[in-house]
Amino acid sequence: MASSLTGKVAVVTGAASGIGKEIALNLAKAGAHIAIADLNAAGAQAVAEEINSAGGKAIGIAMDVTSEDAVKAGIAEVKEKLGPVYILVSNAGIQIVNPIENFAYSDWKKMLAIHLDGAFLTTKAVLPHMYEDDRGGVVIYMGSVHSHLASPLKSAYVTAKHGLLGLARTLAKEGAKHGVRSNVVCPGFVRTPLVEKQIPEQAKEFGISEEEVVKKIMLGGTVDGIFTTLDDVAETVRFLCEFPSAALTGQSITVSHGWHMQ
Ligand code: NAD
Repeated sequence: MASSLTGKVAVVTGAASGIGKEIALNLAKAGAHIAIADLNAAGAQAVAEEINSAGGKAIGIAMDVTSEDAVKAGIAEVKEKLGPVYILVSNAGIQIVNPIENFAYSDWKKMLAIHLDGAFLTTKAVLPHMYEDDRGGVVIYMGSVHSHLASPLKSAYVTAKHGLLGLARTLAKEGAKHGVRSNVVCPGFVRTPLVEKQIPEQAKEFGISEEEVVKKIMLGGTVDGIFTTLDDVAETVRFLCEFPSAALTGQSITVSHGWHMQ
């Protein structure tokens, strides 16, 4: 059966790795044409080739989501090569952990730039495609359990992920008359390079073993002590992209083995 996403153009930022890559592969399987937008141009190209060699359609786009010029140029390239954008998954992100008193202001600004400026700039660049002739579209922001909860050492991350809820809700109100829906997906810990890097960092900061970081800090709040998987997150994104009406807009959906319950 043809999916409602067949032939629809999706831009996934930060899709050279981890969660974004899995979302790109999943949406491609559902028939969408994918632009893999990432700072890591070679990685983006490799994921595009993986999709193309499996019979899908994808291109790699070199894009720093914090640069308005790079975002505008990248989205223009997507329109030229694949057509107008119907889905934006704003997913690019990094993590920097430190207590507030030691958090470098430059790191704070870098975190907010990637997570919030990146979400704003990519949204702004794709909306003309979605608003033209009220064609409509779907914007998904990659939030986190940290869109709803705080953890020590993560001031900038928690602030940025909370901020995405505001952007998604505002877009849900502004975009509705053009058929644009906007939601936030909020995963618990998923074992990607972003998380692997935090295990030794947090062990050092809290003076505990790496096993304890995983068991107590990362999975301690879950109902079953299990990591959220890449597939869990990608399936949630696909569901929201395929959902046929604005009954689901301005929402955040948490995928975290019960770590956070809304
Ligand atoms: P990852 O490190 O595997 O992938 C992140 C990707 O973003 C990389 O390919 C990187 O090159 C790209 N990127 C970084 N800065 C960029 C920029 N300025 N412009 C364009 N691309 C850039 O990380 P991940 O774990 O897959 O994280 C993806 C998203 O999921 C992030 O927003 C993260 O906050 C969120 N998230 C992750 C987890 C988790 O447990 N892994 C949980 C909740 C939310």
